[in-house]
Amino acid sequence: MSDIALAIIGGTGLYQIAALENVETREGDTVYGKPSAPVRIGYLGGKKIAFMARHGEGHSVAPHKVNYRANMRCLKDLGITKVLAINAVGGITDAFGPRVVSVPDQIIDYTYGRLHSLSEEPGSEVLHVDFTEPYCAKLRANILRAAKKIEMPIVDFGCYGATQGPRLETRAEITRMRRDGCDLVGMTGMPEAAIARELALCFTTVALVTDHDAGVDAGGAVTHEEVLQVFARSLEGLKSLLKSAIGAMPAPEDDESALCSCRRSLDGLRLPFALPR
Ligand SMILES: [Zn+2]
Repeated sequence: MSDIALAIIGGTGLYQIAALENVETREGDTVYGKPSAPVRIGYLGGKKIAFMARHGEGHSVAPHKVNYRANMRCLKDLGITKVLAINAVGGITDAFGPRVVSVPDQIIDYTYGRLHSLSEEPGSEVLHVDFTEPYCAKLRANILRAAKKIEMPIVDFGCYGATQGPRLETRAEITRMRRDGCDLVGMTGMPEAAIARELALCFTTVALVTDHDAGVDAGGAVTHEEVLQVFARSLEGLKSLLKSAIGAMPAPEDDESALCSCRRSLDGLRLPFALPR
């Protein structure tokens, strides 16, 4: 365990945290390969935090090419216990219009051909971790409390549909996702969340809606530039939220005293990997 209170995974539009002080850089290298970007560790509001750009600091790694296993393992190897992921998403139901910020509570995974698990190697033990609630309830509550404290509107639910990308979805695919119960559509929510659970990390997501996706607006498709523009307009609010959340983040707990069920997700299971001590 380290004294890092929280790791933040920055998605599209968030490649660094400029306000981070006394930054040290760790070039991660893991048993699953190299992560997308170096980990920047520094102080924000007096708390030690870590930051990693999911797509690389120059946005060079496509959603289906991200080494999710290496990214999460790298944070685990640093002794980090809590991870907050930031995701730019499309909204596909009425409550999720452009610039809505949400802390999703469920996931449906439509991705394929990615390395979805740490149990990929032939002959390795197979992990069947509980994933009924894919996000950490305590971390979700922390974020929602932090939003309330700064009077920031935030939607406290949402089903995140993770698509393969990098192409956008067809109208029929979005219609199906709505029928399935998805509110949000993005390309990076999985297998990130599942691998975090396989590593017994507390993990949750803050999703920023950048557009209403195909089949919701009659207007049709949005460009990547439009997505970035909307994201940039939401960025100040997001930064305030992060600051508020980090300021209230409790000190990390060691494995023995951790109360959260995420930290217990590997109890009693035979692991296909050795965990850092
Ligand atoms: Zn947790």
